[in-house]
Amino acid sequence: MKYNWSIIGHEKQLEQIENDIESGNLTHAYLLAGPNSVGKFTVAKKMAGILQCENNFCHKCKTCVQIQQGSHVDTTELKGKDSIKIEDVRKIIERANMTGTSSYKIFLIQSIERMTMEAANSFLKILEEPPLGTIFLLTTNNFRELLPTIVSRTRVIKFRTVSAEYLTKKLNDLYPDSEDDVIKQVSLFSLGKTGKALHLMENPDSLANYLKTYYDIQNFLDHKNIVDRFSYVENLTIDPAKIEVFLNILTHILRSKILEGDNNREKYLNTLSKIEEAGILLKKNINTRLVLENLMLSL
Ligand SMILES: [Zn+2]
Repeated sequence: MKYNWSIIGHEKQLEQIENDIESGNLTHAYLLAGPNSVGKFTVAKKMAGILQCENNFCHKCKTCVQIQQGSHVDTTELKGKDSIKIEDVRKIIERANMTGTSSYKIFLIQSIERMTMEAANSFLKILEEPPLGTIFLLTTNNFRELLPTIVSRTRVIKFRTVSAEYLTKKLNDLYPDSEDDVIKQVSLFSLGKTGKALHLMENPDSLANYLKTYYDIQNFLDHKNIVDRFSYVENLTIDPAKIEVFLNILTHILRSKILEGDNNREKYLNTLSKIEEAGILLKKNINTRLVLENLMLSL
């Protein structure tokens, strides 16, 4: 690699981006698509750093630091959980048309599937005729929900998860002082998602929470007590972040059991597809408790 990305995995994707930059083959809109927590937005942000920094992406100059902090005047970030409305797109268009002082005017937009139909249609216009020097770096976890007219005006780069073995090796390189057990747990719990892995390495509290959930679930599988399971669900629904951890770890446990040749293979495969459905329903804010209770019944 020519640049210091400090990213785990995704070598092919990073090479493609470097090639586009080096060969003068940049396009005005990139769409980084793939599962959540694999590091798409991080890659987009670093790409912005490479494009804006005048010292080969040095990580030290004012430009690099400001982009990292999200405060660079010509590199705008739009991230979060709320939907992207037409007012947000209007602001983007306004900013894109102002004169800047940097090499490019870059807009980083996370989860563009959050755009309302109205916002997406307005965004389409600027994607068709972007002001000179404008670059959109877009990410999505939900490629299929996007308007085809938007996708066709971007250069799509697809991201994937990595294997647990690969992750273990990379984490050992990055954190030579960490205990083997910690690295092993992180590699397993992050389900091949590199962004998640780094988060767990940097946040021991999160990792402890994952471990606790892991033992809770093992406990459920050993004792088929519906009352306990339902009271656990009640506890989960208080905090949406807990639900995500729960679903991730349950996925990990069931996949491992299937790989070990467990007799309940069919049942677990069925539950895995239910987990996937639950993930989609929960995103749409459909009755969380009911969805999770149904899932518990299928265990
Ligand atoms: Zn720099």
